[in-house]
This record gives sequence, C-alpha cells and structure tokens, in this order.
Amino acid sequence: MKICPQCEEQTKKTRNGKPHEDLKRVEAPRIFKGTKPRGYTEQDYCCLVCGAKFTHSTNKNDLSWTLWQA
Ligand SMILES: [Zn+2]
Repeated sequence: MKICPQCEEQTKKTRNGKPHEDLKRVEAPRIFKGTKPRGYTEQDYCCLVCGAKFTHSTNKNDLSWTLWQA
C-alpha cells in the first residue's frame, strides 16, 4: 500500500481538516439521520495522484478521515 505524501498527511487531519487539493469528491454525501445524538454525513473522496480513497465522516464516534483503499 503506497500513498502519496499529501494523503499521508490527510490521515492525520482532524475533523475540520480540508481535503488536500488533489483529493476529489466521489458521488454525493451519504446522510444518516436519526442516530444519537444527531444525524451525520459521510463523504467519499478519491486522490487523483495515488488513487487512495478516503471517507470523511462528521460522526463523533468515527475517525474523521478514514483511508480505506490505496
Ligand atoms: Zn494521494
């Protein structure tokens, strides 16, 4: 599994961290409603440089930036 330096940094970003410039949105955000304490959204991103895929979640119980494929 080899990812570019920007994606390496991305894995360390916090919930409020912005996707790096070559990390593009894939499809529409998934919106989860009705869970405690509130609904949350997940957005998939794909890196144009190395092809790594991330999911950004606003769920407090999840990691903010999850790398799930590289
Ligand atoms: Zn990358």
